[in-house]
Amino acid sequence: MILPVVKYGHPMLRQRGKRIEAVTPEIRELADSMLETMRASAGVGLAAQQVGHLVLLMVLDVRESERPSTMQVNGTEADIAAHMPMVLLNPVLTEPAGKEVGFEGCLSFPAISADICRAESITVSAMDLDGQPLNFRCGGLLARVIQHENDHLHGVLFVDRMDSATKVSLGGVLKRLQKETQADLPPARKRGARSLPASRHA
Ligand code: ZN
Repeated sequence: MILPVVKYGHPMLRQRGKRIEAVTPEIRELADSMLETMRASAGVGLAAQQVGHLVLLMVLDVRESERPSTMQVNGTEADIAAHMPMVLLNPVLTEPAGKEVGFEGCLSFPAISADICRAESITVSAMDLDGQPLNFRCGGLLARVIQHENDHLHGVLFVDRMDSATKVSLGGVLKRLQKETQADLPPARKRGARSLPASRHA
């Protein structure tokens, strides 16, 4: 099922996801719907917050992109396509190495994109949809997407990681988007949204 993607200004995007203790039919259904939603939007990744669920779950697929990715499992180069699409539950990112500035967009920020500095490579530990542990090292686009989605899972948005010049240049567009989103929220949500911090720095 294609789910509506919540946009910047929605308080859900500023909340942390809860740890998933067991892969229930509901979690499987959510992951399936998130994959369908991501594909329908031509996205490379999607976090549960973006479809209104506060759990530590992300989906991604880098196969359609021309930007290079690397992946090693147990120190050996892995066939990335064989691991796509990827569903990560309770991901933990460690051993960040290198810095790389790269272009990013976000399905919660339609028509907005910016250069963001991220670690070039990371180690990922997570659980898969079969409840099995998944451990790998990755670089390039794959590492970027996982870092972007992992931020979402902790209430952090790519706008928090933009340099100040970019943020200033996008200021009007961001404010307009935030206002549009909040105008569509029911009144209770609107009150909650005002009490949330306007930005959070990681
Ligand atoms: Zn995003």
